[in-house]
Amino acid sequence: MATFLNSPDWDEHEWIELVHDRKSGLTAIIALHSTHCGPGAGGTRFWHYPDPADAMTDALRLSRGMSYKNAMAGLPMGGGKAVVLLDSDGTKTEAMLDAFGDAIEALGGAYVTAEDVGASEADMVAISKRTSHVCGLPVEQGMAGGDPGPFTAYGIYLGIKAAVEHKLGKANMAGVHVALQGCGSVGSGVARLLAAEGARLTMADIDEARAARLAADVGGKAVAAGEIMSTPCDVFSPNALGAILDTNGVAALDCAIVAGGANNQIARPENGVELFRRDILYAPDYVINAGGIINVSLEYLARRDGQPCTAETVNRRIGQIPDRLREIWRESAASGQGAEVVAGETARKLIGR
Ligand code: NAD
Repeated sequence: MATFLNSPDWDEHEWIELVHDRKSGLTAIIALHSTHCGPGAGGTRFWHYPDPADAMTDALRLSRGMSYKNAMAGLPMGGGKAVVLLDSDGTKTEAMLDAFGDAIEALGGAYVTAEDVGASEADMVAISKRTSHVCGLPVEQGMAGGDPGPFTAYGIYLGIKAAVEHKLGKANMAGVHVALQGCGSVGSGVARLLAAEGARLTMADIDEARAARLAADVGGKAVAAGEIMSTPCDVFSPNALGAILDTNGVAALDCAIVAGGANNQIARPENGVELFRRDILYAPDYVINAGGIINVSLEYLARRDGQPCTAETVNRRIGQIPDRLREIWRESAASGQGAEVVAGETARKLIGR
């Protein structure tokens, strides 16, 4: 217990619920970092953790990230996240989802869940049988929702355009070279939007066939996963893993801008400082990748209040992401601090810390 409270990940979380249901075999952690701005909103990760201590670390780091992300997106939501600890065979049963829904309901609306890694729309539908504090449900008439990936990609595309204008003085993407790491739901969405505007694209994925297919589709070039970070380009867009901007990662970059959707890109604070020292414009991940949570949060609020909420409304809100990035970059230039530091300070003020 003492070790856990001494960990920087603890960061004075408001509430941590450890759930175990003997009947279904469900073991889950629900972490609520801050409800200062509203109910803690953030997805549920279904994952097998060989060391359960890593599940707690994940829950704490991710829920704090959601506090920052939701506050910076101007959503009336706080930060929370849940992890469900799966067996090594990844078994997820209806009974487990029922028990998990009951656990969320027992929190009385303090926590609102949605999809994260290992979760599907069908899982959210199952959970919604036991609680109304769930979003990311299938799209219904006049209501946002569904797969957050395309909404996240749209926000990143807008953020990349803003960065290109800010740093390179270019009003459109024609001929701008973007190197994309990760060709999954988010990366492929970003690639398609950029390609439609004439950007020059290089991409990589550890699934080489996936990168090759996307490159053929959008008219770009696929390279090996190990080459993408050092590809000379205007924009490096990380859309795969976190912690890629470590000492070696930052040293490898040959770009003017880093702007992409992967969560927790900067490994350690000094790596953000080094990015700034190298005069690489950085779009803080939790600001640029908020499109998905904006979509599901607006869906949740609309359902709760019995109001309609269309994709147009959601996209209008996502359209505010570039303004927030520009504010951060202006403040960063004025204060001589990296964008990550400025964003972190702003987010903490917003959540009253
Ligand atoms: P995804 O699983 O659909 O795609 C990730 C892709 O990255 C896969 O194709 C995978 O093969 C590839 N990949 C993994 N390691 C790689 C490596 N070392 N080099 C190159 N490619 C690699 O996931 P996604 O939904 O597209 O999410 C991508 C990132 O964006 C994740 O960090 C996620 O946490 C973050 N994110 C996603 C959303 C969303 O709405 N989906 C929202 C916010 C943040």
